[in-house]
Amino acid sequence: MILISSCLAGLATTYDGRDNYREEIAALLQQGKAVLVCPEQLGGLPTPRPPAEIVGGSGADVLDGKAKVLTNDHRDVTAEFIRGAEQTLKIARTVNAKYAILKESSPSCGSTLIYDGTYSKRKQPGFGVTSALLRRSGIEVYSEANFKSLLDKIN
Ligand code: SF4
Repeated sequence: MILISSCLAGLATTYDGRDNYREEIAALLQQGKAVLVCPEQLGGLPTPRPPAEIVGGSGADVLDGKAKVLTNDHRDVTAEFIRGAEQTLKIARTVNAKYAILKESSPSCGSTLIYDGTYSKRKQPGFGVTSALLRRSGIEVYSEANFKSLLDKIN
C-alpha cells in the first residue's frame, strides 16, 4: 500500500483550500493501491489555514525539538505538525504502507525541498515533518517529481 498526499489526489486540502491534482497519482487510489493522508488536517489544523514554514532547520530538526513550525503570522503550530506526522505514521502502519508519494516543498510533505523559513518563497534542501518521520520509520518517500521511479519499481 502507498500513502498519498490527499491534495495530489484532488482533495482541496492545501492551506489555501486548493488541490495539487495529478491524474497518474490519483489513479493509484482508483486502483486500490493507495490511502490518502493530509498530515496537517490530521494534526488538527483547519482548511483553509495560514501558510506555515519550518524555522531553524528541517523536518527532522522539528522532530528532535531543534526547530519550530510557525505560520506567517507567527503562530507556533509545531505541536500540530508533529501530531499530524504521528497520525500519518499510524495510518501507514495500519495499512502496512512501505511507500509514500507526498507533495514536494510542503513543510509536512516535502521530501527534497522545503521553504527556508523566511516566507519569501525561497526553498532549501530538506524534508517536511511528516516525510522525516516516515523516513525514520523505514518508509520510502517519493514526490510528484519522482514517483515514476517508484511505479517502475513496484510494477
Ligand atoms: S499537508 Fe500534505 S497532503 Fe495536506 S495539503 Fe499540505 S501537502 Fe497536501
